[in-house]
Amino acid sequence: MTNGKDTVCSICHGEIGPDVYGRIMCYGCGPYELLPHERRDLRPPQSVRPAAMKALVYRGAGTYGLEERPRPELKGPGDAIVRILCTSISSTDLHILKGDAPEVAPGRILGHEAVGVIEQVAGGVTGFRRGDHVLVSSITSCGRCAACRRGMTSNCEEGGWALGRHIDGTHAEYVRVPFADYGLHKVPAGVDEDALALLSDVFPTGHECGVLSGAVKPGDVVCVVGAGPVGLAALMTAQLYSPAQVIVVEPDDFRLETARRLGATAGVGAGATAARVLELTNGRGIDVAIEAVGLPETFELCEDVVAPGGHIANVGVHGRPATLRLQKLWSRNVTITTRLVDAVTIPLLLETVRTGRLDPRKLVTHTFRFEQLEVAYRTFANAAANKALKVLIKNG
Ligand code: ZN
Repeated sequence: MTNGKDTVCSICHGEIGPDVYGRIMCYGCGPYELLPHERRDLRPPQSVRPAAMKALVYRGAGTYGLEERPRPELKGPGDAIVRILCTSISSTDLHILKGDAPEVAPGRILGHEAVGVIEQVAGGVTGFRRGDHVLVSSITSCGRCAACRRGMTSNCEEGGWALGRHIDGTHAEYVRVPFADYGLHKVPAGVDEDALALLSDVFPTGHECGVLSGAVKPGDVVCVVGAGPVGLAALMTAQLYSPAQVIVVEPDDFRLETARRLGATAGVGAGATAARVLELTNGRGIDVAIEAVGLPETFELCEDVVAPGGHIANVGVHGRPATLRLQKLWSRNVTITTRLVDAVTIPLLLETVRTGRLDPRKLVTHTFRFEQLEVAYRTFANAAANKALKVLIKNG
């Protein structure tokens, strides 16, 4: 406890500071007005070495492995510690492994998709308690900054895409989630909990960056370029808005067949050209072209097929410049959007899953145990050979 002069907690010797309500609290024990009895169960074990856990650690470009790490501890007033029940691997994790994300330091625990159970909450967390089953958002948002107040949480001044990038992520047995009131969502009763890990990132990305940015509406002709997991999530969520046609462009036979199974009205395989896509629209063009690959040629294909008044919604992660064909587009009233997922539609997507309108499990091709995490990475990294879309990794 504190008498107002102490600078460390007399119970755990941890840091003392104001919580979000201005109350003095210990970041380990919680607000003092609730101590010592009521919140004793939330106190982390002190004066003992933190318990260990297994985690998938990025060791530098091209190298990674499972390591023993200390379990995360509460650091701030809005933190929660979540025990991971199920996680998945994203293509951006593979980009990091290749060394394409220099901001990620060696030693970082990767991963930003997960479902888990809350082990511990700090005193500032009001919406969750120990034992709650939760979906972890890929986006960390403080809820207070200008970007968060606009719903553009991907650009939160204190968060954004932080998990598995700037802070340790979900490819571990436990993860610390900052601003837990905004970064966690309760798992509705009666849903397939494991598959909800796909609502951390892949489904909100396809839905927000593709379908919503592209403003898909009833009767539209939509073209999804790229049938990887995010492209397929865009295909599935586009159908919530009743487009007349959804054409999918994808060179891989397995993925194109999967797209057809998931509702694509037409598919264009290897060697796709703008002419072939336009043929499927009787030359009218595409109302919403969703780029879900991240290469110059696939973005330029979208430019070549978009109809007057149409949208090009970029979803892909681009590493090289693409040619902007303004000489063709300047007079065609075309809207081009870019976006990083804000994960603000997770509640909407959870509800569509709960009511059976959306089934994320349709993208799951492989399931592994946690100790097979390295195998899961290898499988996902060779997705075409393994016919892999999303892989689930279950802990326990
Ligand atoms: Zn913010």
